[in-house]
Amino acid sequence: MGAFEKYQPPTEGVRIVAHETELEVSDNPVIPFIEGDGIGPDIMRATHRVLNGAVQKAYDGQRKLCWYEIFAGEKAQSRFGEWIPKDTFEAVRHYSVALKGPLTTPVGGGFRSLNVTLRQVLDLYACVRPVRYFEGVPSPVKEPWKMDMVIFRENTEDVYAGIEWAKDSDEVRRVIQFLNEEMGCSIRSDSGIGIKPISVTGTKRLARKAIRYALTRNRKSVTFVHKGNIMKFTEGAFRDWGYELAREEFAERTIPESEVRGGDLPPGKILVNDRIADAMFQQILTRTDEYSVVVTPNLNGDYLSDACAAQVGGLGLAPGANLGETMALFEATHGTAPKYAGQDKVNPSSLILSGVMMLEHIGWDEAAGLIVKSLEETIRQKRVTYDLARMMEGATKVSTSQFADAMVANM
Ligand code: NAP
Repeated sequence: MGAFEKYQPPTEGVRIVAHETELEVSDNPVIPFIEGDGIGPDIMRATHRVLNGAVQKAYDGQRKLCWYEIFAGEKAQSRFGEWIPKDTFEAVRHYSVALKGPLTTPVGGGFRSLNVTLRQVLDLYACVRPVRYFEGVPSPVKEPWKMDMVIFRENTEDVYAGIEWAKDSDEVRRVIQFLNEEMGCSIRSDSGIGIKPISVTGTKRLARKAIRYALTRNRKSVTFVHKGNIMKFTEGAFRDWGYELAREEFAERTIPESEVRGGDLPPGKILVNDRIADAMFQQILTRTDEYSVVVTPNLNGDYLSDACAAQVGGLGLAPGANLGETMALFEATHGTAPKYAGQDKVNPSSLILSGVMMLEHIGWDEAAGLIVKSLEETIRQKRVTYDLARMMEGATKVSTSQFADAMVANM
């Protein structure tokens, strides 16, 4: 790496080095973090406290996370006059793993969104969202514990690729003219147009990551969710390329649903199947525990992950990761909740659980396990922040920092 332009290098710790399929992690890795806007500082502080506590406890002081602050959003703008300094991209690239708080989308900053920019510039193509139930959390369904899914959503393609033109623009006129005159379409002249690219490359690298994840985490199935009955050459192709990849690279360890006889999986193999997106929204309610790892194009994944999260009690407990070939950026799935900024009030669980994903990613499973157990225990004790307290009978409402303290005490 060239030296940073604006940032001082970290004062302690060793860089995590990403090799093709594994990470080289020392006992004191440098972990860059973006504090985030709004409630970001509150939940990041709590997350550091919980992760440090778990690492200390799990490894008896032999290991340590060396936090290294990098900047994006309002803090970057006020310090460096930029929303995302180049050094931030460089730091995530160089250190391979980073944790991020929520960022406000600047109005008139020339960005669609800072989050989308980070994902696209760093080619973090897989958005990974595990959704599971924590006992005691109020849920709108009868058996929320049946949900234990990990959603792999494509992050760079589909109608989210940002290729669109406004009605009446010069560009849209040219596109409509081309489509109507040369491609035999009949598009109304007063249309806006968006393009939906889905590629073999984008699909197969996502499918590969999801199947590898399912195999290493002993998951029982991988399901491609698509709308291929209608959008044949994008979503239908997504499904076909998914099966193709499973056959080409994981034939020994996977079996497609069409080859399963009598409902039993051959030992050592995981099931690969597919579901049409609309049917899948029913399936997550009616056959919740039949699904484990789910792979979807960008838009389906956006909808599906919120629907799944709602089923287990909402976004407050939903973590996320954006993974590239070698880089990983872990983040809470909610936004900056500006009305609660600086009040030490909100629920830090989403970012803490993103930290758990980060610990698992670097192979520190013991510390990750401690955090999950202590979160379960803290919720069981009904010592929760306002968002859960308002829905739980007999709860003790605690602040963000008290929640973190309770979690550390419960380890
Ligand atoms: P939001 O920040 O997620 O907040 C919406 C509501 O969700 C809050 O008012 C609160 O509901 C609840 N909530 C969110 N986080 C919570 C937490 N940690 N604990 C408890 N409750 C929580 O969504 P928004 O207001 O639509 O967006 C605000 C800003 O965040 C926007 O600038 C948006 O662009 C940005 N954003 C960033 C990301 C990201 O960085 N990845 C993601 C989404 C949005 P109650 O008031 O009902 O308690």
